[in-house]
Amino acid sequence: MITRLSSLFLRTLRDDPADAEVPSHKLLVRAGYIRRAAPGVYTWLPLGLRTLRKIEDVVREEMTAIGGQELLFPALLPREPYEKTNRWTEYGPSLFRLQDRKGNDMLLGPTHEEMFAGAVKDMYSSYKDFPVTLFQIQTKYRDEERPRAGILRGREFVMKDSYSFDMTDEGLDASYAAHRGAYQRIFDRLGLSYVICQATSGAMGGSASEEFLAVSANGEDTFVRATDGDYAANVEAVVTQPGQPRPVAGLPEAVEYDTPDSETIATLVDWANSEGVRIDDREVTAADTLKCVVLTVLEPGAEERDLLGVLVPGDREVDMKRLEASLEPAEVAMAEEKDFKRNPFLVKGYVGPRGLAANGVRVLADPRIVEGTSWITGADAPNRHVVGLVAGRDFEVDGYVEAAEIREGDPAPDGQGTLTLERGIEIGHIFQLGRKYTEAFDVQILDENGKRSVPTMGSYGVGVSRLMAVLAEQRHDAKGLSWPVEIAPFQVHVVVANKDAAALEAGERLAGELDTAGIEVLFDDRPKVSPGVKFKDAELLGMPFAVVLGRSFADGIVELRVRDGETMEVPADEVVARVVELVRG
Ligand code: ATP
Ligand code: MG
Repeated sequence: MITRLSSLFLRTLRDDPADAEVPSHKLLVRAGYIRRAAPGVYTWLPLGLRTLRKIEDVVREEMTAIGGQELLFPALLPREPYEKTNRWTEYGPSLFRLQDRKGNDMLLGPTHEEMFAGAVKDMYSSYKDFPVTLFQIQTKYRDEERPRAGILRGREFVMKDSYSFDMTDEGLDASYAAHRGAYQRIFDRLGLSYVICQATSGAMGGSASEEFLAVSANGEDTFVRATDGDYAANVEAVVTQPGQPRPVAGLPEAVEYDTPDSETIATLVDWANSEGVRIDDREVTAADTLKCVVLTVLEPGAEERDLLGVLVPGDREVDMKRLEASLEPAEVAMAEEKDFKRNPFLVKGYVGPRGLAANGVRVLADPRIVEGTSWITGADAPNRHVVGLVAGRDFEVDGYVEAAEIREGDPAPDGQGTLTLERGIEIGHIFQLGRKYTEAFDVQILDENGKRSVPTMGSYGVGVSRLMAVLAEQRHDAKGLSWPVEIAPFQVHVVVANKDAAALEAGERLAGELDTAGIEVLFDDRPKVSPGVKFKDAELLGMPFAVVLGRSFADGIVELRVRDGETMEVPADEVVARVVELVRG
């Protein structure tokens, strides 16, 4: 079937949509692939839907190849299963909740661990049924706080989610490895530039978790890569190399000073050096000061927020995302004015670890703040600082925490080189979930010895609709989109840039021949549109190849344009074979 631009449901736009900031969003809207229905909610127009379906097919093929079985759960779900795992509550305002006419609570599924675990519990009871991997390609709903960049972060989006169920931990490792391989094949086939990053496994802890990040300056995620070796990680997952503990014996006593006008780290360092203060016999830098950041934490199920002190070297900020990841599932926020008012021992600008500990505040420290390190920090009184406060001698901490920002040039955790910071977009996540959900659902399976045993789960997601935006983000130029052959809505765009009837007829014939040869053809047969406009549209829409019947057509020559490459003059009777060759790659 040839698709004709004269009748295709499409209107390209000359201007960028007012709400669009990133290229993929601008281009997908201008080229008529998607259309906004509400913030973060998009209509798939014919070109967009074809592209989406092709991405789905690549994902489906690779999932099937590792033995995944496709099924489809509803998006409209009952509350009960999500109550069992407490996610009805934990998901907070991101969950779309609704009620049916009888007043029953329901939700639009943000992810489906509960439904899969429940189905396996109901349908399987013997170890002989395991391992099993199930997947779906389905529309998910999340009321994202900041829907962004069109389909890059939608409130309705398409995800492939799969779940593996194994009777043993080794089995889970194998399922995880199979998914990892499948994801690599998917993203390689799509021609993406991506990095596999170690991720935090949040509340579950300990088990393997990796994110696939597409490299993109417009990404919301920051990740690190090491200059040597192949370490790559999500910033949240970077583990700080701990400092070297040293004996406290013989270290100078801590001394308190009046330090007027030194509320900031910079002014404090200036004061110390103007006073001739020395730490370890050298000039003082910001890294010798200790920043005591006061926060509040809400533990799950708790009624009130508790104070928390976080200690970091003064040359670094607290990275709230890293801190949040470390403290998950507890919620954390900077202390507010009211918290300071309520707790007068917190002297703003002069908070120190001794005051926090003396008043029962839990204190967590950056791993560099080990026994025997000496610091300049707040003395818990206005305009007062203390110099030479030694960890393990003058103050103790309740534990260590990954909270300090990661900086370009920090040592790689595996000791191989230093870290560089880059931006990326998460396109996939693989995660050893363990038994959290199977236990919540009391999935009991009889093992070989007739004993009851709980299977362990893996959870794996690919952002199918997001991938379309990511491809647009990684592959476009000033003129428009440029799709890889495998997922382009059409493989070749035939443009008749010649007003005489013979050219139009020849275009018709050529489109037919390409179609017969198994090529997907988009045919610009619009009789009253100028060649210039047709060319612009062809570049905007981004099919990988275009065949142009223009001026030299009278001499039997057509143009074969490669969207991200050269333009060739080809005899008209050879062009079908050439296109077939290019498309088959
Ligand atoms: P993010 O950090 O980007 O919000 P996530 O950690 O919430 O992602 P998962 O729950 O692991 O994502 O979902 C699996 C995949 O679904 C992600 O890797 C991503 O590609 C995609 N995805 C998640 N949220 C959205 C969204 N709002 N719009 C489009 N795709 C999304
Ligand atoms: Mg999210």
